[in-house]
Amino acid sequence: MALQIYNTLTRQKEPFVPLREGRVHMYVCGPTVWNDAHIGHGKTYINFDIVVRYLRYLGYQVLYVQNITDVGHLRDSGEDRILAEAERTRLQPMQLAETYTRRYFRDMDRLNVTRPDISPRATGHIPEMIDLIQELLAKRHAYEVNGSVYFSVREYPEYGKLSGRRVEELQSGHRVDVKDEKRDPADFALWKRADDDHIMRWNSPWGPGYPGWHIECSVMSTKYLGQPFDIHGGGVENKFPHHECEIAQSEAAEGTQFARYWMHNGMLMIRGEEMHKSLGNSFTLEQACAQWDPMVIRFFVLQSHYRGPIDLTDEAIEGARKGAERLFTAMRAVERRLLSAPQGAAAPQSAAAPQSAAAPEDAVAPPVAELLTKGRTDFEASMDDDFNTAGALAALFDVTREVNTLLSAKQPLSARSLEAIRAFYARLAGDVLGLVPPAETGNSGLAPELIELLLQTRRELRAAKQWALADQIRDRLAALGVTLKDGPDGTTWSLA
Ligand SMILES: [Zn+2]
Repeated sequence: MALQIYNTLTRQKEPFVPLREGRVHMYVCGPTVWNDAHIGHGKTYINFDIVVRYLRYLGYQVLYVQNITDVGHLRDSGEDRILAEAERTRLQPMQLAETYTRRYFRDMDRLNVTRPDISPRATGHIPEMIDLIQELLAKRHAYEVNGSVYFSVREYPEYGKLSGRRVEELQSGHRVDVKDEKRDPADFALWKRADDDHIMRWNSPWGPGYPGWHIECSVMSTKYLGQPFDIHGGGVENKFPHHECEIAQSEAAEGTQFARYWMHNGMLMIRGEEMHKSLGNSFTLEQACAQWDPMVIRFFVLQSHYRGPIDLTDEAIEGARKGAERLFTAMRAVERRLLSAPQGAAAPQSAAAPQSAAAPEDAVAPPVAELLTKGRTDFEASMDDDFNTAGALAALFDVTREVNTLLSAKQPLSARSLEAIRAFYARLAGDVLGLVPPAETGNSGLAPELIELLLQTRRELRAAKQWALADQIRDRLAALGVTLKDGPDGTTWSLA
């Protein structure tokens, strides 16, 4: 089965066919950098990271753009979030935006979220926004009032096609504000006039002002990806009005489709409730990563389908911790076996070596090859089904169960078999799901490679009957928190 994507626009799963062969142009709405990213952002960007990683795994060249909103995201009160926070903290708005942009990337790096290829800033694209607004004015899809410009929803009959909302419904839902200068309550701002004390301001044909929020995504997506482009993603909470407005602006101005596949990810709930500052249940990614290993958070997100909501509870996190540990334990066990495999037999690049060069006893054992082929097929079938990461994890666990049996069997695995299993995990768990065992140094500060090297030396000393020196290595390692256990099948080690 080829990749199927649920398209919000058509409300069904569709086979994915990119516009340009072998290339995917993808845009995801990025953060508003007025404060730290919270755990809900973690879910969103992990969800879309999986999309990018899997498309790359399938061989597509992906151009991934994710904006940084550093102007224009207004509160319900009409205040700009960045400006309000800058005034509160007495910082320059751009100083504040830069600080939180850096912290956003730091948090995403911790979660092993691949950085976008381009992270355009809204403030760096004001001239392009003015151009698009002028185009909309020229085509009578927008109008100017007192230095502000609004999009006329009535003039665009397709408004509402993404969210399924109707203009009438929107109008009745709006408060009537006597100060409202809009012709229709459902209209939205493309450009806002700046009052004299408004420090985030740019000159425009309509006087000093600043852009509305939606216009930046229309401009920054199509500037780098063209129009139409393949995939537009974002949180389900942005489907309306934000994404609906993006579509209206871009399609009204250009007369062509804006984005072809619309993907929306579900929300993260905290113990059954929506996360909200006012409920006191909101916490930042920095706080979350201090409490749990970032890989556990990532695993927790991947246990559910991206489109659904997930509920963060202590039990769910504990389940994720156990699951991640089970997977990482097997991955590490394979790595260790490879490190202690006889000299010369372990060939990390063996996959590239011609098959005929391998001696029969150094080939991938048929049951291992079969296991990995089935594991890969199941993994891909799940991922092809609209990025079903829960199914993909189940496929990894099916393989892990068998790997654990093979590792504890009397007959040792050949270096080639171990290498094939290692490569399987590295590609599917590592490259596609972004699950990488946290660095394993314990309190010893020693890398596993170094411990294995010392073990190898100790083996040679014992073979040469140099018992005192061999014991000294064991004792010195014990003092560093590395416990050795000698058994009939050789020596194993564990960290304190
Ligand atoms: Zn956006």
